[in-house]
Amino acid sequence: MDAAPNCAICNAPAYPECPCESDRLQIAVKQAENRAMETRLDEIRDWVISHARQHILHAFERLTSTRKQAHATYLSSLPNYAVYMQYSGHPPIHPVYIHQLQQQISEAHAELKRGIDADWRASVLRYPEVLDYFYGLISLRLPDEDSPRVTSPPFAAAGYSDRGYDNSRVGYEKKKKKHRESSAPPMDRRREELMFTVGRRRGPPPVPTPPVQSSGLPRPPPMFGYQ
Ligand SMILES: [Zn+2]
Repeated sequence: MDAAPNCAICNAPAYPECPCESDRLQIAVKQAENRAMETRLDEIRDWVISHARQHILHAFERLTSTRKQAHATYLSSLPNYAVYMQYSGHPPIHPVYIHQLQQQISEAHAELKRGIDADWRASVLRYPEVLDYFYGLISLRLPDEDSPRVTSPPFAAAGYSDRGYDNSRVGYEKKKKKHRESSAPPMDRRREELMFTVGRRRGPPPVPTPPVQSSGLPRPPPMFGYQ
């Protein structure tokens, strides 16, 4: 006799294998992953972006401040520049010199602008590398395989009794309406709903509660941390 269990979803015999279980498992994994990871990934992304941006801005400021200093030094080295500034652009010198000086100043300004643009480009184009660096500082830790929290999770103690899979969504909806008046749907219903709802947009799903009360157990360590 074949002891392999029938499909838990549609009750078809184990062979040939139907896709129900693996389909539902994929959905359940996706949902669990979202519940477990979404907030942490958001938090990590914000952290990485803000540090990368800060670094890029500082690098840009270092580049431009050197460039602005060189620009100022160059200007003050130009003939007649000091007197030109002293008389606010109307020094008592020959207009030919003034014109020549103005030409040099405007060229120097244009050169400074080009240089600042180049500094900005050079800084911003380093984002991929800088993002990699800060993402690299995030550590992902899997728990120890021998940890009691891994080998005997609290909800495994009692085992599971069969509650069946409710295929009649219509009957379920009716029951759900009745329940809504008095109380929340029973836990097994909620768990099934979480695992097996496809394609319907809802609010964030409630976190499923393990069937056995886990009193006094320490929280598992966070999987992500900053080094
Ligand atoms: Zn099936």
